[in-house]
Amino acid sequence: MPLYEYFCKPCNGIFEELRPIREATDPVPCPQCYKDAARIMPTSFAAFTFRDGYPRRIPDDGKFYHLGKKVSRLVSSGRPNEHPEVNKPEPKPRKTKGELQELKEMRQAAAKGQLSDLYGNAVRPEEVPAAVEQGKGLRQATPRGGGE
Ligand SMILES: [Zn+2]
Repeated sequence: MPLYEYFCKPCNGIFEELRPIREATDPVPCPQCYKDAARIMPTSFAAFTFRDGYPRRIPDDGKFYHLGKKVSRLVSSGRPNEHPEVNKPEPKPRKTKGELQELKEMRQAAAKGQLSDLYGNAVRPEEVPAAVEQGKGLRQATPRGGGE
């Protein structure tokens, strides 16, 4: 099978594929973004360079493409479909004053042995932030025989 060249527009990338002659002009899915890439005809002018192991069409703006989005560096770790510039981790929401106050009160209740989880197990003060973070149902346990 002859080797043909294909150009992926979203990635600005060029790649080669071994294909049967009769399928040579059919689009080929790009190895990076899986979008259809058109064949580069041998008669057309296509100057390209290699950068970081990827063929790039000239002019090369130094950027990379990830799932059709322009990014400034290649994905080097994590899941291949996720790029740190495309899928930025959600920033942790800051706790409001009310939430901090609530947390403080829960810790105080826990210190007095008056806080329990949904199963009735006592919650220690140092366990309160993690339990709240995980969305565990904490409730004020009324001490036996007591009352407000
Ligand atoms: Zn592509």
